[in-house]
Amino acid sequence: MTDTGINARHKARMERKKAHIDQSIEKADQEKGLLLVLTGNGKGKSSSAFGMMARSLGYGMKVGVAQFIKGRSDTGEEAFFARQENVEWHVLGEGFTWNTQDREGDIKTAIAGWETTKTMLQNPEIALVILDELTYPIKYGYLDEATILADIAARPSQQHVVVTGRGASEAFIELADTVSELKDVKHAYRAGIKAQAGIDL
Ligand code: ATP
Ligand code: MG
Repeated sequence: MTDTGINARHKARMERKKAHIDQSIEKADQEKGLLLVLTGNGKGKSSSAFGMMARSLGYGMKVGVAQFIKGRSDTGEEAFFARQENVEWHVLGEGFTWNTQDREGDIKTAIAGWETTKTMLQNPEIALVILDELTYPIKYGYLDEATILADIAARPSQQHVVVTGRGASEAFIELADTVSELKDVKHAYRAGIKAQAGIDL
């Protein structure tokens, strides 16, 4: 085929593609607060949530963050985001379960943490709420899943919520609008490389 023929066919194909894309964009015309769940064993759940946080702040929106279980407060994301305007940041865990070794205490911390979280889920001024590592206190039975799902469902209609953590339950996936499962293909940690500042924490 001549170059002119190839170019003409390409143009026709792209016209059909554009019509198809335009049609599907037109069909997606609803606006609502989304529930996003980022789960799976691969790296990229929390960092994806903080990527959406950066996007939201870029539009001048208010963002609330609740970090569960992890009591450490020396992550790069906290050092950066917590000092920005329009950010409410809560570290709600007192450390990893295998560090605290105190189930009763962990339960009290988790329940008190959820009360704090609820104030964000009831505040229509907060456009995005990130519930980082929320799957763990639920999985350990520290927090009642039905209560959590009900509180998330009752949030202001335009508020977005992002939940991260491995092993998201069927009920969470059911309620969510967007769910991504990060797949672990390879991780540097298994090659003996320790967590790297700026990449892993
Ligand atoms: P990130 O915060 O980097 O997006 P994540 O939220 O998907 O990671 P978490 O389970 O919260 O994953 O773990 C956080 C830390 O554990 C990070 O240092 C991350 O690099 C590391 N990590 C994540 N997935 C794996 C894995 N499959 N093997 C080993 N380490 C991992
Ligand atoms: Mg994480």
